[in-house]
Amino acid sequence: DPRLKAISDAIRVVPHFPKPGIMFQDITTLLLDHKAFKDTVDIFVDRYRDMGVSVVAGVEARGFMFGPSIALAIGAKFVPLRKPRKLPGEKIFEAYELEYGTDCLEMHIGAVKPGERAIVIDDLVATGGTLSAAIRLLERVGAEVVECACVIGLPEVKASPSITAAATLAMRKVL
Ligand code: IMP
Repeated sequence: DPRLKAISDAIRVVPHFPKPGIMFQDITTLLLDHKAFKDTVDIFVDRYRDMGVSVVAGVEARGFMFGPSIALAIGAKFVPLRKPRKLPGEKIFEAYELEYGTDCLEMHIGAVKPGERAIVIDDLVATGGTLSAAIRLLERVGAEVVECACVIGLPEVKASPSITAAATLAMRKVL
C-alpha cells in the first residue's frame, strides 16, 4: 500500500522517553499531517466497513484519537475503555500487567449488548497485555471481538502468554 510509508514517516520516534532506553513512538505528529491521518483512518475503515461491526472500543488515551473517526465512518458506536476512576457510571474492570506493576481498564455496563460485534482500537501493541484486557471486558458482557487493530506494532517485543491464551484474539498489525 503506497500510503504506508508516508504514515510511518509521520510518526515521530523519541528516544529515551518516558525513561532511558525506551524508543517512544509518538503519533501526535501523525495527527498534524492531514493526509497521513486521513489515510490511517481510511485503511481501518476500508477493512471494517463490511464486517458487521457495531462497536468500536477505543483504549485510553491514544485509542480515542483514532477510534471515534472509524466508528462514525463505519456506522458503529464508540465505547471508551478508560483508566481507573474516570467513568461516572456503573462499570466493570479488568487488570493487566505492565513491565512494572499493573494497570486497569474500565467499561460502562450497558454500553455494549450481548451478541454485538466489536473491534478494539489502540495506537500501539507491544506485549498485547492492554488489548487482552480490552478483549476480556468486551467478552464478559457477551460481545464478540472480531479483531484488534493498532497503528503500530512492535514485532521485536515478544507477545506475553496471555496473548496466546486469548482464544478470540485475532490481532492484526494493520500498518
Ligand atoms: P502492551 O500492553 O504491552 O501491548 O502496550 C501497549 C500500550 O502501551 C498501548 O496502550 C500503548 O498506547 C502504550 N505504549 C507502549 N509503548 C508506546 C510507545 O512507544 N508509544 C505510544 N504508546 C505506547
